[in-house]
Amino acid sequence: MLVEAVQKLFPTAAVRVALDGVCLALAERTLGDAHDVMDALAISISDHISGGVILGGCAVVGRTGNAGSVAHMLVPGFDERCECGGRGCVDAVASGRAIRSWARDRGWAGDSLAALLTAAQSGDEITAAALGRAGIALGKAISSTAALLDLDLVVISGSVATVGAPLWRPLGEAVAGHARPGYLAGLRIIPSKIDGLGALAGAGILALMGNK
Ligand SMILES: [Zn+2]
Repeated sequence: MLVEAVQKLFPTAAVRVALDGVCLALAERTLGDAHDVMDALAISISDHISGGVILGGCAVVGRTGNAGSVAHMLVPGFDERCECGGRGCVDAVASGRAIRSWARDRGWAGDSLAALLTAAQSGDEITAAALGRAGIALGKAISSTAALLDLDLVVISGSVATVGAPLWRPLGEAVAGHARPGYLAGLRIIPSKIDGLGALAGAGILALMGNK
């Protein structure tokens, strides 16, 4: 329906639609560290979490365009209510909104996500704890996904991923504890080097592919 509506507005244009996560995966596959990898997961963490999967060198789309939505993977040990209506999704623990809300409920007086990330980097205990549990939840979700899809690489972008050790240390520990099958020994999890381009660049790549 969206495609038809946009096509009416721009009758001479080729209209294609892809969701955030698919565009993110395309961007990492074309411009980022996933360019020489056949099987990868791209995750972006800002206010919300989005994700996209590359398997056999191709971005996976899925029936409704939502394949790779790691946001709603269930994480053992967490029971927060998610905006999707369920409980215990990784987005309900590790998205920027969830991290901020958890910290504020425990007395952190700041407001913006940027302020929270700065506070955690400066050693503030509440915000560091919020990012610590986010890292654990992400590490568990990544471990499950990597085991299911036999991944080589996970690339993480978005403002929350730029915070450094308060997120990446617990994330790494969770992966070390949970990504145990031998075939995951070479699994790499790295920050994106094309942060800031992400899904938008992927949308551009999709448009270029359509013109070929
Ligand atoms: Zn959910």
